[in-house]
Amino acid sequence: MTVELLKERLEAILGAENVLTEYEDLVCYSFDATMNVDAYIPLAVVLPETTEQIAEIVKIAAEEKIPLFPRGAGTNLSGGTVPVGGGIVISMCRMNKIIEIDEDNLTATVQAGVVIEDLINEAKKHGLLYAPDPGTVHCATMGGSIAECAGGLRGVKYGVTRDYVMGVEVVSADGDVSRFGGKTVKNVTGYSMTQLFVASEGTLGIITEATVRLIPLPESRRSMMAVFMDLESAGKAISAIIRSHIIPATLEIMDNATIRCVEETTGAGLPVDAEAVLLIEVDGFEGEVVRDAERIVDICKEFGAERTERADTDTERDSLWAARRAALPSLIKRASSTILEDATVPRSAVSEMLRAVSAISEKYGIPIGTFGHAGDGNLHPTILADFSRDGESEKVEAAIKDIFAAALSLGGTLSGEHGIGVAKINYMKDEFGDSGLRLMRKIKKALDPDNILNPGKLIPFDGGDVI
Ligand SMILES: Cc1cc2nc3c(=O)[nH]c(=O)nc-3n(C[C@H](O)[C@H](O)[C@H](O)COP(=O)(O)OP(=O)(O)OC[C@H]3O[C@@H](n4cnc5c(N)ncnc54)[C@H](O)[C@@H]3O)c2cc1C
Repeated sequence: MTVELLKERLEAILGAENVLTEYEDLVCYSFDATMNVDAYIPLAVVLPETTEQIAEIVKIAAEEKIPLFPRGAGTNLSGGTVPVGGGIVISMCRMNKIIEIDEDNLTATVQAGVVIEDLINEAKKHGLLYAPDPGTVHCATMGGSIAECAGGLRGVKYGVTRDYVMGVEVVSADGDVSRFGGKTVKNVTGYSMTQLFVASEGTLGIITEATVRLIPLPESRRSMMAVFMDLESAGKAISAIIRSHIIPATLEIMDNATIRCVEETTGAGLPVDAEAVLLIEVDGFEGEVVRDAERIVDICKEFGAERTERADTDTERDSLWAARRAALPSLIKRASSTILEDATVPRSAVSEMLRAVSAISEKYGIPIGTFGHAGDGNLHPTILADFSRDGESEKVEAAIKDIFAAALSLGGTLSGEHGIGVAKINYMKDEFGDSGLRLMRKIKKALDPDNILNPGKLIPFDGGDVI
């Protein structure tokens, strides 16, 4: 089919204003937040408003075998929305209605394009919390965060997106619309289809609606920072906090390289001479919060914190967490290229992983800033690269390989929350081996036999059995 005919058919479904085919419009959809991933110009971008429109678009794509690339806000960090090889980008941004906050069932039902923070703010009006809060909470969408199984700062106590998704409406590769799960707390009917779509990165179906769990807003919270003069002690303090059976809502780490970059960009007053800071928040009932905060301060001191600082006012608290959210943008500003990794280890191995990353940085002479969700074992070693230097590409590639190998050898995984996309696709075999990949490929083939849904992502799919 010619592009003109495709445009005509899409416009018949969506109206001309919701179909983009001009180069200057398309170019914005050729990349996402991931650095060092090739960009591809799509054939067209569509902006549907209803599930029925998406089903019609998918039917055309299935008939003509045109690849489809669902896209939320494009903030993913694994090249997940890049339209590899061209095709149609389905932007979910107009499907942004919060359909219902159900206080009787403690659920929310939303269209996939709802911005996470909009749901959090709406839930708050009802005294409720939608807990997953990735760093991009102010712009990332519910659909994108479900398709990535996003985590966030509250993961250590409240879990990740997977723990909140109770039901989904999806358009499958043949254009059929199905609903799985719903508002019931219990549901064991059939396969766990709802969960199959979580973290599927748009490769199994297009999520158009979701029902998610809400929880009561915690009554009280305290934030604090613990300052360490060596990374090792910070790592040990993290394990000690977890071992003490206190589950903080948030337990984050920033190393010296990250602290310096953040301070340079934000002037938040971070201790630039510290080797590491832990940023911690506890929440719950007031008495419990006071007790847990005191205990955590004691543990940090016991494990070598030079000092601890409490954020007493809302302004101090906001500034602390704004500094943490500025970690990646600040590191990005510092280098001509940054490669952010997401390797995740069991929580008891955080110290060892921090040590391994330092050793890798030294081995290849490449600066690596590390920050992340330490309480989840989910670190973000960020390589600050300068590809104009001789041999830099080879060194960076070797360093990435070593980071993944270190995480896997500690019983970890390639990605805790950023997904695989195109960026980590070649490492999947290291984690799953041939048999694991074969099984996943069978699922992909069963649901998307012509490989039109976000091809080139997550699982290498070449029509054959072997990568
Ligand atoms: C500065 C920064 C900080 C970040 N911090 C965090 C963090 O703390 N925790 C974390 O987990 N992530 C984080 N991220 C990554 C990212 O923001 C999250 O994964 C986010 O949830 C992605 O949402 P999105 O709407 O941008 O999705 P997109 O990037 O648009 O899409 C992500 C994937 O989902 C697919 N997709 C999108 N919508 C749908 C749909 N409706 N149906 C099916 N598939 C779909 C896409 O094809 C793609 O594969 C961060 C990113 C940046 C740039």
